Formats: sequence, structure tokens, C-alpha cells
Amino acid sequence: IQKVSEQLQEQRRNLPIAKGADALIREIKSNDTLVLLGETGSGKTTQVPQYILESGVLGSGMIAVTQPRRVAATSLAARVAAEQGCSVGDRVGYAVRFQEAYGPETKIKFLTDGMLARELLADPLLSKYSVIILDEAHERTLNTDLLMASLKGIQEARKGNTKVPHSGKGKERADNSSCGALKVIIMSATLDAEKFSRFFGNAKIIYVKGRQHPVKIYHTVTGQNDFVDAALRTFFQIHVDQPPGDVLIFLPGQEDIESLEKSISSYASQLPLGKSRVVVCPFYASMPQDKQNKVFSPTTNGQRKCILSTNIAETSITIPGVRYVIDTGVHKEKRHLAGVSGSGFNTLLVCAISKSSAMQRAGRAGREGPGFCYRLYPESAFRDLPDTSEPEIMRCSLASATLRLKCLQRDFFDLELLDKPDGSAINAGMKTLWMLGALDTEGNLTPTGRAMSLFPVEPQQSRALLESRIHGCTREVLAIVAIQSASSKVFYDPGSGSAADSNEPGSRDIERRDQAQAARAKFIHISGDHMTLLNVFRAYEDLLKSSGGDSKSAKAERRDWCNRHFLHERALTEALDIQTQLRRICDTMRGREASFGLSDPNIELDWRSSVAEGPGSTVEAEKVLKCLMTGLVQHGALRSAERGYCPIMDKSKTIKIHPSSTLAGKKFDAIMYDELLFTNSGSTYARCVSAIPTSIISDLSAYRPRST
Ligand code: ADP
Ligand code: MG
Repeated sequence: IQKVSEQLQEQRRNLPIAKGADALIREIKSNDTLVLLGETGSGKTTQVPQYILESGVLGSGMIAVTQPRRVAATSLAARVAAEQGCSVGDRVGYAVRFQEAYGPETKIKFLTDGMLARELLADPLLSKYSVIILDEAHERTLNTDLLMASLKGIQEARKGNTKVPHSGKGKERADNSSCGALKVIIMSATLDAEKFSRFFGNAKIIYVKGRQHPVKIYHTVTGQNDFVDAALRTFFQIHVDQPPGDVLIFLPGQEDIESLEKSISSYASQLPLGKSRVVVCPFYASMPQDKQNKVFSPTTNGQRKCILSTNIAETSITIPGVRYVIDTGVHKEKRHLAGVSGSGFNTLLVCAISKSSAMQRAGRAGREGPGFCYRLYPESAFRDLPDTSEPEIMRCSLASATLRLKCLQRDFFDLELLDKPDGSAINAGMKTLWMLGALDTEGNLTPTGRAMSLFPVEPQQSRALLESRIHGCTREVLAIVAIQSASSKVFYDPGSGSAADSNEPGSRDIERRDQAQAARAKFIHISGDHMTLLNVFRAYEDLLKSSGGDSKSAKAERRDWCNRHFLHERALTEALDIQTQLRRICDTMRGREASFGLSDPNIELDWRSSVAEGPGSTVEAEKVLKCLMTGLVQHGALRSAERGYCPIMDKSKTIKIHPSSTLAGKKFDAIMYDELLFTNSGSTYARCVSAIPTSIISDLSAYRPRST
């Protein structure tokens, strides 16, 4: 252990940022706000919090370091804990949605920007923290942008210059100065420093010089239709022809990663002996911790590591040993549905990256020596890329963020932001909340809205949860929301990774897909995907009852059961955990309905309430779907014989049921769905779909918001 930590300390000392550590601390001491800019891999994220900790600037407070992605927050915490020689959860911890590891000792806390935004609701001055680092600010996520807007006011309030910017209704006004001044550091990998600096009243900008070696960039002559296939061929060209060095391939999402992993592994096994062995390491947001470690562990002689990664390895995480980068030129982007206007929700789309992303990706090859980057697109295509991606706040549903702002007695109209979304987008978010009953016609928060904000899930889901207490099916709705909130999907779909267009239903491995569908047939509920998820969840709970425990054989039995049914066990165990956490929130509301202004003294919000008629009854499905529909009121579609399904919010469109749905190809009068997927070929698919029971179809078109 001693030797390992010596090695780590040596690595720390050799990082480009180490030379400037003392100067940096001086600047932090003398400035309230700093913008810190530096080459990816120079040591900003892992080192700056430790320098601050060691310098004594902190006093009794903590450092928060935000990350746009949960996998970055957890793995950076692991790395920094190792460098500090402690376990995760001691001096160094993390908090991501539904999962946290920190305690009274924790001084450095890595957390997603979404988690810090939620902490604001309970603690509007963020009084636990002395220093807040907003990392990866160049990504311009909605939450980071909103945090920037809030932090300005908090800094003023904590200096005692202004009143608390926004404390919850009925709360005591906190003593502004009791928690001391707040230092804010904005960290970014690219050159938008001036904009951040201006926003914070011309805050000082500090540059960290990185160590960057030349990277030779190759483009393809023509565009590639199938980037997974192109990446496969390029990888083997490198592997066969080029000297040692690990390969990093950027792909849009988990499906493409899994599909390429399979092809590389199967071709690599056919290589002649004597060639170095290929070690394939997938790396994406919902990956289990133990698999992540493999990404960072060095290969032995005669091995070549091939890392298949989403955007995560672009700037958040630096993987040592990489000499070759293959850039597919695409990533997944959260987008608010244009076209189906006012429907108020996000979808993930495979889109072209920006020039700045392409440059970051290439840069990953030159960390330790000269490197090579193979772009799977022509040079002309590179020139046509936008300089930077559009900030998330300009292209996402604002409903969830509006609800949080309303709880702090703010809204998008009065907020000073780096970039302000236009009025129609702000109004669409408000309209969604109004339709959910979270805002009244004047745009004021209702008791329902305040209660919804307590749940760290989408407004559509918290609305359904609240409704469930009226119908006595909280347990069922909770299970469905939990399974939907897990970070990976529960159904393992062989052949879902289609290369040319990841949203297009795949044609690969159709046989295996049929096999998976047959194995899961017994879970299928005639009403569709939501009740089917509930059936899967229950079956897993039953399995735990019959073969619970942590014995090797019990675990093996569960693993085997999941494999046989093509289910991701991790999603199920995560869902159980999420269920427990959501249940705790329900329990804290029990008996306190009055304090939320929720009338109905006769109805308890009791997670234990489940449908009296029992599982499988038609009453059960009807009750559960009725609750879900209060959340999905904007996500309904009616079918006409001539046109097929038309979304109720935009009847000029038609949509199809996605082939992954248990209802694919079936005809109902009305359906509701969790999300719509757009394919690049112009079709729109509804995913996670249920038929709306005939008895409640009229509720859908005649929907009027009401408080519970
Ligand atoms: P920056 O934030 O400036 O991009 P980081 O502080 O994230 O840089 O990383 C600094 C260096 O620490 C990286 O170049 C990498 O070599 C090393 N590093 C970070 N995390 C890990 C890890 N989990 N395992 C091994 N090395 C790591
Ligand atoms: Mg970083």
C-alpha cells in the first residue's frame, strides 16, 4: 500500500497543475470567484480540491465539486480518495441521485450538478459549503447554468450584502452571515472563459498550461453510413499495422458500445497468434463500478486496450495510455421535442458533435506522447460543424427546473442567466406544470407542486405518485417509477444497437431478439409496457423472497434467472434501492398532508397501500394507469383509422409504437407513452407505451388540471 501511494504522490507531483499550486492557492485566497481554464488531464478536477483542503482556506466548511455526469462524480471521488489515502465516504465522498457516500468527516464532495441544485431547495444558502467548484462548465448543462445564476446571489447574501435571495415559503429567514463567505470556482476545458468571467463581474481568469503532444489527424474521404462498422474496421487497421498504444473510440451511447464490443471481441479472437491481445473496455454513464476500474488499469505487455466510450472520456475523465483516438463524430444530445410543441419533455437524439468536441476528442491521443486521431468523417464535414454545442438550457424541457425555481420563489423570467431561453420555451415549461396541477392559472406554485418537488424524479412521475394515494396504489406506481429511474434499462435487448441510426429499430440479431421476447413473454401485461415493468419488478421481488440472501448459490440463482429472461439484474437491484428511497420520502409526508396544504384528511399517502383487488386484476391495471396518466397527460395519442396514432398535443403528427414495446403493431383507441424517439429518417416512435383503458379515455381529452 505504501508503494502504491508513493506512486500516486509521484503522479500528482508530475501533473502540469502542480507547479502552479501555490500561486493558485494565493489567488483563491484573494478572490471570491475564479475562472480556471486548462487542458483536459492537467489535474484541475482531482488536484484543486485537494490543494484547497491542504491550504486551510476551508475552515469548517466543505468543498463541493459538481459534474454533469454521475459516473464522473463517482469515479473522481474514488480517484481522489485513493490519492488522499482514505476510503470513499470518509474525507472524500460523492452524491449522485439515489446513491451517495459521504459522512461527517467528508470535506471534498463530488456531486452531480443536479444533486447540488436539489440541495438548494433544502438549504438556499448552501451553508455547508465554503467552496463550490462548478466543473466542466463548458458543457453548459441546464443545471450548471442554473447553479451559476443562483451562486451569484448566494455569494452576496452570505457576505451580508443582501437578504437571502430566495428562501422557501414560511421558512425562517436564515442568518446570512453565519456560514461565512462562499468561494466559487468555475472550471472549464475550453475557451469560453470570458463569458463566465463577465457573468461573475469580471472574475479573474487563470490558465493552467497542459502538456499536449502533437496529434496527427486523419479524415475519411467520404461520409460513413455505419459508424459502428467503420470504427470496427479502423480499429483493426490500427491494431494490425500500428505500434503499441491504447485505442479510445468515441461512440454515442451504450447500445453502440455494446454492439461494437461484441464485434471487436469476436474478430479479435480470430487473429493469428503472435498479435497482441485486445482488451475491450466499455465506458458509459450507467456502468457498474467494478467494470469501471478495468478502464483505468494499465495493460500488461503484449496487450492493447480498446476503450469504447461515450462523451464521458472527452473531458471529464482522462484515461492514461491512449495513443490512438477514433472519433465517430456523433454523440447523444438531450433535446426538447420541436414539432410536438408544448408536450414538455426531452428525448435523446444522436447528433453531430461540435468542432470544440472534435478537438477535445483528438487531444485525448496526445496526453503522453505524439498520437493519432482517425475521424470517421471527411474534412469538409468537420469544417461544417458548429463551433460549440448549443447550451442545454436552449434546447431542453424547462418543466422540472421551473418547478424547482418556483419552490425558491423564482422563475425563468426573473433569473439572470448566461443564455436566456426564449419566452415560448419558458411558457411551455409552465404549461406542463399547470397541466400537472403544480402551478395555478397565475403561475403560482400549488400544494401539489410543492409536494411533487420533494421527489427527485421527473414531474410526470411525481405527479403520478401523488395521484396514487387517491387510488390506493402507491406501492404499484412507486415500483414502476423506481424501475424507470434506474440508470440502465431493465430489458436487455440483443440487437438493439443499430449503427447507422441508433434510434432506428435494429435489424441485427433479430433471432436473438425474438428469443428474448419469448423468454419474457410471461411478464407481458395486455395493457402494455408500464404494467409489464411492474410484473418484472414483482417477479424479481418474489425471487428475492424465495432465494434471498447473499450466499453464493442464491446470487448465482438470481443471476441465472435474470440471464434467462434477458433482464439486467443491476437495473433491478438499483430499482429496489430507489423504491426504498422514494418510499422514505412518501413516509415523511404521511400525516403532514395539511402542512403541504393537501386536503383530503381521509387519504393517507402510504406506500404500503396496494390495490385491494390484487395483482393481475383489471381493476389494478386501471387504477395504476389512471395515476400514470395524470403525469402523462401531454403524452397521449388517439388513433384514427386513416392516420394511425396522433399525439393529442399536436394532432397534425403521426407516431408509431416502437418495436421494443409489447404493444408494437397492436391497435388501440388511445395510448400513452413515456417518450418519443425521432429517427433521422423522419419517423417518430413512442417508447414505453400503454393502452389507455376505454373507461378513462374521456379523462384524457377533457383533462383539466386539479389539485389532489
Ligand atoms: P483535468 O480535470 O484537468 O482534466 P484530472 O484532474 O481529471 O484533470 O486528471 C488528472 C490526471 O489524473 C489525468 O491525466 C489522469 O492521468 C489521472 N487520473 C485521473 N483519474 C484517474 C483514475 N481514476 N485512474 C488513473 N488515473 C487517473
Ligand atoms: Mg476535469
